[in-house]
This record gives sequence, C-alpha cells and structure tokens, in this order.
Amino acid sequence: MQQAMPVISIQHVTKTYQMGHVRVNALQGVSLTVERGEMLAVMGPSGSGKSTMMNIIGCLDVPTSGQYLLEGEDVRAMNDNQLASIRQGKIGFVFQTYNLLQRATALANVEMPLMYGNGHNRRARALEALERVGLAHRARHMPTELSGGEQQRVGIARALVKEPSILLADEPTGNLDTRSSDEILSVIQDLNRNEGLTIVLVTHETDIAQHTRRVVSFRDGLVVDDAPVAQPLLAGQHA
Ligand code: ADP
Repeated sequence: MQQAMPVISIQHVTKTYQMGHVRVNALQGVSLTVERGEMLAVMGPSGSGKSTMMNIIGCLDVPTSGQYLLEGEDVRAMNDNQLASIRQGKIGFVFQTYNLLQRATALANVEMPLMYGNGHNRRARALEALERVGLAHRARHMPTELSGGEQQRVGIARALVKEPSILLADEPTGNLDTRSSDEILSVIQDLNRNEGLTIVLVTHETDIAQHTRRVVSFRDGLVVDDAPVAQPLLAGQHA
C-alpha cells in the first residue's frame, strides 16, 4: 500500500524581501510537516513571519530557498499560472473580514469560485457547501441580513465549495464577539473532526489556538515551538 503523503511538507524554507538597500529575512529556515486531517494553529507576535508563511502555504508566494511540497508537488518549480491553478483547486481561504459580495445572496457568494471552468451542478454544489456549515436555510439572504457569524459561515462555505485539500483561515474569528466566535470554531472543528479536513488557522489568541490539536509558534522568522494541544477545547459547549 502507498504510504500516506503529508499534505504540506516544508523543508528549510527562507523568504527574503528586498526593500531598496535593506533585506528583510521574513523566514529564516522553517520546516513544517502537516499530515492529512490535522488541525493546527499558527501563532506568534506581529512581524514574526506568520503571514509570509501563510502566503507560501497558500501558493500566493514562493520561497526564496528551501522546498515546499503540496501533496507531493514541488511548488517552487511552478510558474504563476500553475500556482494560480493549484491555489484555486487545493486551497480554501477564509479571511477575517469575510470578503463577501454585498449585492449577492449567500448562495451566489458560495457559487462564485465555480464561475470559471466547469460550471456543472454549480447551484447544487453551493447549496451543499452551505449545508455543511449549517446555513442552507439562509441561502437566499443577502449578507446584510446575516449576523457576523453567519457571514463568516458563508465565507467558509465559499472556501469549501471546490473541495480543497487545506482550509487556510487567517484570524477567522477576529471580527466576531465571543458567541459568534464560538459558533465559527464549532463549524471549523466539525469540518476537521467529522470530515477529516486539514485546517491551518492563524490566531493571536491562546484560547482560540487551544481549540486546535497542535500549536506552531513563530518568532523572528523561525518556528520556536511546535507542540500538540493536550486537551483541545470543544466549541459549542456554552449554554
Ligand atoms: P506576521 O504575519 O507574523 O505579522 P509577516 O510575515 O507579515 O509577519 O512579516 C515578517 C517580516 O517580513 C516583517 O519584518 C515584515 O515587515 C516583513 N515583510 C512582510 N511582507 C513584506 C513585503 N511584501 N515586503 C517587505 N517586507 C515584508
């Protein structure tokens, strides 16, 4: 039997930005392996390299040196078109600010990633994605008619609709109150626990990170800690 391949295999990755005469070493040699079905939090102070790392994982940028294999494919060897196509197929992005189209229904927002390419069963697939986040009954509502938590659930459904290999969530609860934040964590945890989706979540908050199974901490462009969460908190437990 073929051995299971990691979803993410990053070896000795560096990223250097040139700002005029100044070189910024945003990543100074990072190695990280993520197996299918993991759910991990990326933490670290501002400027520690989290966004740079997420951009590389999400194929929005490539390393200066080192290797990144995404499901075994060498991302560093790819041109912009290949990167775009891998990004659209394999990565589901969830943003802090949802980034929904305000003049489109929840359903139309979720259909958006399916507009290009094969539009087969577009509506049904979008509806199914909304069902997976418990929001099928709000499909015809406009974003302004939805709570913050519901809007973020639409954002998650939009990220899921193309069946990505990884969900990359950048501070997905950053704009939400405690209750809505718990609602979103519950949806994300269910996707990981029930569907085995691989999830990488960037957060500032220790409490949020404790809802994942593993915390990777960055400082000065390096991974300074990488440890399992002994007893992950379960969202959706409040009265
Ligand atoms: P974090 O997300 O943890 O706040 P970043 O990855 O954004 O950290 O930044 C790491 C370092 O790289 C910082 O010193 C930042 O100023 C620098 N940096 C990030 N992006 C760029 C860029 N496009 N050009 C130049 N420097 C950058």
